[in-house]
Amino acid sequence: MAFKVGLLGLGTVGTGTAQILLDPAQRHPLVQELEIYRVGVRSPDKTRLVAFSPGVVTTDLEAIVTDPAVEIVVELLGGLEPARSLILKAIANGKHVVTANKAVIARFGEEIFAAATEAGVYVLLEAAVGGGIPVIEPLKQSLCANRIHTLMGIVNGTTNYILTRMQTEGGDFAEILADAQKLGYAEADPTTDVDGFDAADKIAILASLAFGGRIKLPEVYCEGIRQVSAADIAYADKLGFVIKLLAVAKRDTSPGTNLADPPDQLQVRVHPTLIPKTHPLASVNQVYNAILVEGEPIGQVMFFGPGAGAGPTASAVVSDILNIAAILKVGRGAATDGQPPQLDPLLACSHQHYCAIAPMSELVTRFYARFLTQDSSGVIGKLGTCFGNHSVSLESVVQIGLRDNQAEIVVVTHHVREGNFHQALDEIRTFEAVNSVASLLRVL
Ligand code: NAP
Repeated sequence: MAFKVGLLGLGTVGTGTAQILLDPAQRHPLVQELEIYRVGVRSPDKTRLVAFSPGVVTTDLEAIVTDPAVEIVVELLGGLEPARSLILKAIANGKHVVTANKAVIARFGEEIFAAATEAGVYVLLEAAVGGGIPVIEPLKQSLCANRIHTLMGIVNGTTNYILTRMQTEGGDFAEILADAQKLGYAEADPTTDVDGFDAADKIAILASLAFGGRIKLPEVYCEGIRQVSAADIAYADKLGFVIKLLAVAKRDTSPGTNLADPPDQLQVRVHPTLIPKTHPLASVNQVYNAILVEGEPIGQVMFFGPGAGAGPTASAVVSDILNIAAILKVGRGAATDGQPPQLDPLLACSHQHYCAIAPMSELVTRFYARFLTQDSSGVIGKLGTCFGNHSVSLESVVQIGLRDNQAEIVVVTHHVREGNFHQALDEIRTFEAVNSVASLLRVL
């Protein structure tokens, strides 16, 4: 007997998922055992790329998540509501859930996974991070023998597309964003992507898997790419860097740290970053995503691939459906004696606590800063002295030329405490000869 799937949403990813399920030839034989039993949409009369028997498509999504015949609910609606409520209702009705909704999981993960554990059902979310790239399951299973200490990645395709074009064409952010919107690479309201919120949702999910604790989303530092200018990209290029929107989750690895101890604090952050051109993430361009995982004893592993799109994302969704179907097939997902079934500990969420997140002022990193100053002698010396007074040592200081009759000075620091660097900057802003701090970016 086929496993009955209730599909919520038949948009980009829903359609891609249906296309795989309706065309099982040469895929895993278990795909043939999956039946799209109901499909929930908002506009039933829309022209669709896939056709279903009469009665399958409905606008009554509650009827799908409460239908006793449905075993697996696949939530591909997007947005917070009604997605969250429907996921919870599906769980309460004993359904396993597959979702691609990073926004719901990053905000309501605790509520959803607590309900799932109590009901003895799985909530799987491979497609929520990195689109088609398998990264959630590797973190849960293939890499789980490791002590992970760093995760960093390019997890938002829209910003990577914009930054790649800024790099190759030399254009400014606003003009490339407008073109990306015309071409369909950026939403009409691009806030979630360009201000880093989508990447923050994703790194919160990855960090929680890698470090075995929940992450409070408001504690994730989040800075987008709006302030990255063509001038910064050009200077970064001359200095041997590319600029990428990097999502980072990291635990302390300073000498003396014992990775066997639970981390005191984690860094979880999203911001544009100068990456050395030789770094593996530097060559991840266009809409591609990549996630670099570092752990002991494995060392570095990088996951690379298409971070969005109907087919790639559906590939991840269907892999989750198959994982659940495989468990059901061997009878491991069945309730016994009125008790909820025992969940596979590698697939289920076992987090009980929240991770402590370090304040950004304690971050030790390198900085790139661009100053616009009066064209007078001694400015570089004054900057150097001020940085030195705040224990900020400089790797390079370059005065490249004049911009709008102002001198332009670019500074790259050695590793410094972020708090010290900002104290120095506050003082520098009061200098009469310094007109503005035109940009400030972190350097990997
Ligand atoms: P989409 O194209 O906008 O499709 C959304 C679907 O949900 C549509 O079929 C829509 O119905 C239906 N829907 C939305 N709200 C509804 C409501 N209140 N009642 C009934 N039906 C409703 O979205 P998508 O791009 O497929 O994204 C789906 C999810 O996958 C999101 O969580 C997204 O973040 C995630 N995701 C997407 C991608 C990607 O490449 N697109 C990649 C990774 C993850 P109608 O068709 O009738 O309008």
